[in-house]
Amino acid sequence: MTIHLFNTLSGRIEPLVPMDGATLRMYACGPTVYDYGHIGNFRTFLHVDVLRRALELSGTPVRHVMNITDVDDKIIRNATAAGLHIADYTRRFEEAFFEDLEALSVERPTVVPRATEHIPEMVHLVERLAEEKLAYQTEDGSWYFRIAGFPEYGRLSKKDFAGINSGARVDVDEYDKDSARDFALWKAPKPGEHRWDSAIGAGRPGWHLECSAMAIKYLGDSFDLHAGGEDLMFPHHENEIAQSECATHQTFARHWFHVRFLLVEGRKMSKSEGNFYTLRDLLLKGYKASAIRSLLISVPYGQQLNFTFEGLAAETAALERLRTFQRRLLEASFETGAPGASMLTDQELLEQTARARQAFDAALANDLNTAEAKAAIFDLVRAANIALDQRAVGLRVLSPENRDALLAVLARFDRVFAVLSTDDVAVTDAALDWAECAGRLDEVPAELLAQRALSDIQIEALIEERKTARHNRNFARGDAIRDELLHKGVVIEDSKEGVRWRRR
Ligand code: AMP
Ligand code: ZN
Repeated sequence: MTIHLFNTLSGRIEPLVPMDGATLRMYACGPTVYDYGHIGNFRTFLHVDVLRRALELSGTPVRHVMNITDVDDKIIRNATAAGLHIADYTRRFEEAFFEDLEALSVERPTVVPRATEHIPEMVHLVERLAEEKLAYQTEDGSWYFRIAGFPEYGRLSKKDFAGINSGARVDVDEYDKDSARDFALWKAPKPGEHRWDSAIGAGRPGWHLECSAMAIKYLGDSFDLHAGGEDLMFPHHENEIAQSECATHQTFARHWFHVRFLLVEGRKMSKSEGNFYTLRDLLLKGYKASAIRSLLISVPYGQQLNFTFEGLAAETAALERLRTFQRRLLEASFETGAPGASMLTDQELLEQTARARQAFDAALANDLNTAEAKAAIFDLVRAANIALDQRAVGLRVLSPENRDALLAVLARFDRVFAVLSTDDVAVTDAALDWAECAGRLDEVPAELLAQRALSDIQIEALIEERKTARHNRNFARGDAIRDELLHKGVVIEDSKEGVRWRRR
């Protein structure tokens, strides 16, 4: 299958095939690591992950580069306020970001460059633009890009900047939405601010420059696809195109993929609105990582999604139905023989399974329609469950061929959706460990705390206590400990060699 995807640049749905005929090279703007990410941010990273997984499923290898923005105005401001070096300030949020990605089963990008480790590449890009007379230096030592020198400016965001006011400048990382201004490539340092000394003077890179320099370094002057949230289209991506294409004289990215916002009550989820949840907030309320992933990708990337707790609860229940079905298949018994009158025949069920698989592939290939792809699987599960119910009453349950075909479709679904095999208990436990360190355990519901999985040491201690209790003929206590362990997913077996235990 070939994935067809809407291209913001052309305004059309186009086939997505690697320009070198081998590997699809894609760049996704990464996080600014000044705080924990919220689930709106993760909606974007999750859809990029879905795209990557769908490409891989279709047989296209992907080289996925995602930057870490570890220097910008907010970082400098917060690090200064905390009295920390910017690297010490950003590292813990970078680590937390990767923990969150892993919890959400996002495949790690192939290369994850940090902005602060690519300053020479950025400086070089400014030098190339200066040679082209498209970068100029102001009195304070900052460098700006002259957007009047790039007539294509606005092509991506479809904004008309004819008659751009040349020379009007913006030098902060936070931009207003509609005005095109010469943007800072390199910013002269303010007193006490973190700075790099370089051939173009002391200072620090502008945000847009970071992405261009790292994309070109790891993917080449021209590559297949560039991704980010819808808010990055202008000015960030417009600026990336301008400075990259002016330096290389080549098309920067051929295909632009923008993920639309996660909303809360109709407004963009964002730090500045204060209407956000981090992944950790939700895990500490008892929601499962797999359900959060599933919800965030359930609506296709090209539509906004309104976050509600009802939606999350419904997603949790839907996922449970899918897991129950998978278990049912794994546990079903197999016999062959004639089905009863109203049953689907083996052949019909096989055909239905094949049709679901085709519908799943076709939905993904059609602009990554995750909603339709998922519906194809859920429709099949419904039909197969009915078939299983009917057969359970009759003689036989399922032919091995049917079972394997159904399990294969579920596995195919999970290669892209990645929600069935998540170890939700381990993820929640890690969040609880973190909450303990962060002093946030008091906000965790008692019920969730009670389910917290036991550490090996706690398990050994309980087994020892049970041994003593039984030795003292206190069997009631011994049984209570066994039940408690079982409740927390630990099975104990008494054997001649002593007590063995395992996690379920
Ligand atoms: P940041 O760390 O702020 O640079 O954002 C990281 C990514 O999250 C960017 O691709 C943003 O476009 C994206 N993003 C920010 N807010 C939202 C939201 N509410 N819904 C979807 N994506 C978002
Ligand atoms: Zn970027």
